[in-house]
Amino acid sequence: MLPINDLARHNRPLDSDIRAAINRVLQRGYYILGPENQAFEAEFAAYLGATDSVAVGNGTDALELALKALDIGSGDEVITVANAGMYASTAIRAVGAKPSWVDIEPHRMLLDVGLLPAAVNERTRAIVVTHLYGRMADIEAVVAFAKPRGIAVIEDCAQAHGARRNCQLAGTLGDLAAFSFYPTKNLGALGDGGAVVSNNPALLARLRGLRQYGWTSKYHVGMTGGRNSRLDEIQAAILRCKLPHLDAWNSRRRAIIARYNTGLAGLGWQLPPEPDESDVGHLYVVRTPQRDAVRTTLAALEIASDVHYPVPDHQQAAFPVAISLPVTEAAAVELLTLPCFPELSDAEIDTVIAACWQAVKGEHS
Ligand SMILES: *Cc1c(COP(=O)(O)O)cnc(C)c1O
Repeated sequence: MLPINDLARHNRPLDSDIRAAINRVLQRGYYILGPENQAFEAEFAAYLGATDSVAVGNGTDALELALKALDIGSGDEVITVANAGMYASTAIRAVGAKPSWVDIEPHRMLLDVGLLPAAVNERTRAIVVTHLYGRMADIEAVVAFAKPRGIAVIEDCAQAHGARRNCQLAGTLGDLAAFSFYPTKNLGALGDGGAVVSNNPALLARLRGLRQYGWTSKYHVGMTGGRNSRLDEIQAAILRCKLPHLDAWNSRRRAIIARYNTGLAGLGWQLPPEPDESDVGHLYVVRTPQRDAVRTTLAALEIASDVHYPVPDHQQAAFPVAISLPVTEAAAVELLTLPCFPELSDAEIDTVIAACWQAVKGEHS
């Protein structure tokens, strides 16, 4: 089976580096929030061009702690999109606030900035902007809208490590940014991990306390809302091995997207925009009304596919909300994710392309 993502293939070339990193931690005997964490936080912030980063347990905690750093909680509303896998909505609910969803643009499938004026009210405290599939949303326009209104902007960069526009990296344009290092992400640990990034020293100081019980110094709880959400030293050491390769992996992902776009042109599907530096090709997602039939043919040809994401946040069974988001809902039944990871070969991409043509036309292109 040709997989959507092949992490063993991805990590194999770094095998000896990763083993050396793990050994370093074992020999030192320091396992949580130690020197590897400090070094990774500094190296990741330097890579992004941000003031600092605060490593945490995972990407959803990063979103939750970013909201807590802004003191957002019950009675507050946070605007976000409903097509991004429920992560932001989970974090917003975890702090006691209410998610308020806006619809997306039909082609890029990112937050539609034109819908913000109708979505804000006096309870709106923040906007979580998700850079979905590796593509940067119109974050500058969101910030221009939010700033004069006193609304904070949190970038969800869990799919966009290394995306940049006008020399600025995703994660440095809002007030705070949340990253995930879940193994399948563009920069992935070999377990869970996350980070919050900011250029604001006061918010960074709050995050350092909030991730560890609300401590302002050891055993002294100086702030409410504390959690326990930390990155372990082994994961931090592994992330330090992988960070120097991120840009090369992202360029290969862009090349994969461009090759798919060329090969699938003419099929009648809605293909992603041509990737530039603001796109790090986290997922290759097309739209086709024949999605389910195509997936059946691909599976018969031993090609994995997936759907990111099948259920919009407002329609999840545990939290149904009776609102209508027509573009989000129309997309959800047409989305199709094809294999995309840096080690995917051109021959494999061409096999997937031929299988897609076969699925639609019953013939090879
Ligand atoms: C993966 C992901 C998250 C959550 O990260 P976890 O580490 O799994 O908690 C948040 N937002 C987006 C867009 C993601 O893709």
